[in-house]
Amino acid sequence: MAVWVFAEEQEGAPATSALEMITKAREWGAPTVVYHGAADAIPTLGEYGATTVHHVTPGDTLAGAALAAAIEGVMADGNPQAILFGMLPTSRDVAGRLSARIGAPVLANAVDVRVGDRVEVVSEILGGTEQVVTAARGAAPAIVLVRPKAFPAEPGGGATPDVATIDLPDVGPAGRARIVESHVEHSEGPDLEKASLVVSGGRGMGDATKFEILDELARLLGGAVGATRAVVDAGWVPYSYQVGQTGKTVKPGVYIAAGISGAMQHLVGMKDSGKIIAINKDPEAPIFGVSDLGIVGDVHKVLPQLIEALKSR
Ligand SMILES: Cc1cc2nc3c(=O)[nH]c(=O)nc-3n(C[C@H](O)[C@H](O)[C@H](O)COP(=O)(O)OP(=O)(O)OC[C@H]3O[C@@H](n4cnc5c(N)ncnc54)[C@H](O)[C@@H]3O)c2cc1C
Repeated sequence: MAVWVFAEEQEGAPATSALEMITKAREWGAPTVVYHGAADAIPTLGEYGATTVHHVTPGDTLAGAALAAAIEGVMADGNPQAILFGMLPTSRDVAGRLSARIGAPVLANAVDVRVGDRVEVVSEILGGTEQVVTAARGAAPAIVLVRPKAFPAEPGGGATPDVATIDLPDVGPAGRARIVESHVEHSEGPDLEKASLVVSGGRGMGDATKFEILDELARLLGGAVGATRAVVDAGWVPYSYQVGQTGKTVKPGVYIAAGISGAMQHLVGMKDSGKIIAINKDPEAPIFGVSDLGIVGDVHKVLPQLIEALKSR
């Protein structure tokens, strides 16, 4: 049984989601990784358990089509039963193109993967209130898109992996689009997806200026600030703050939801947080259904009191 992982880099290091998938793949033996990233990060892949790395150095082309062709080429050697991909743009591009090349379906949004006689993928529906299990049939490998934070990333103390360099094949016009610019959005304070505490604001905060109080609270608690889509759509904070189905998935130890109703699409991005504290003036707000601690009150009264109490400690 062989399970492969497609790993891409983010800002010069393997994406966290790739390390999560490699950690999981150790359950099924020695993971083989197809890595699209800088070579000096390969020892990190070994640390998390990769024993073989097919390495592709990124260039200035949009590599999705060529990467799919390259994976099809090396697959014959390892005969993987499943290939795990993260939800990052290049990963999704490659997964779709590989699916079209080899005639295997993409099983998306996995929060768990089981590999035995067949590959089964667990995904969530109805805002995470129900789980469905989908089994792959037909041509191997099963192509699986795994949600971020589905598994913990834990180093396994592995050795440096065997590395084989792959040159990208010529795939004609589909491989000729060039990346002319890319931007990394920088923010102050801890990274939203890695923070151990997140303070998120919703439409109940009132307007953009009121987010300053969330910044202050996050600073005092050493956390990051998040938001709902309603707030992002209103232009109060950038898209990089958005938590939820079409935003980021977070799993901090503590999640504070201020003026957030608790729509399903928001809950899927934060419901697995350790402890959820909600502040909402409506006692019937759905956010209280997932909260460990609920404060029925006005955010403009509760938050200043909380900040004052923290400052006086
Ligand atoms: C395809 C799709 C994808 C989506 N993806 C996302 C996503 O990724 N993330 C996301 O968040 N949403 C997403 N949404 C939108 C989602 O459905 C909700 O519209 C959104 O989450 C609501 O945001 P909100 O809670 O800020 O606003 P509202 O639903 O308007 O809630 C505001 C809350 O604030 C409370 N309130 C008002 N004033 C105060 C006050 N002074 N003090 C305390 N409480 C107060 C109100 O009681 C209310 O509960 C998506 C929707 C669709 C259709």
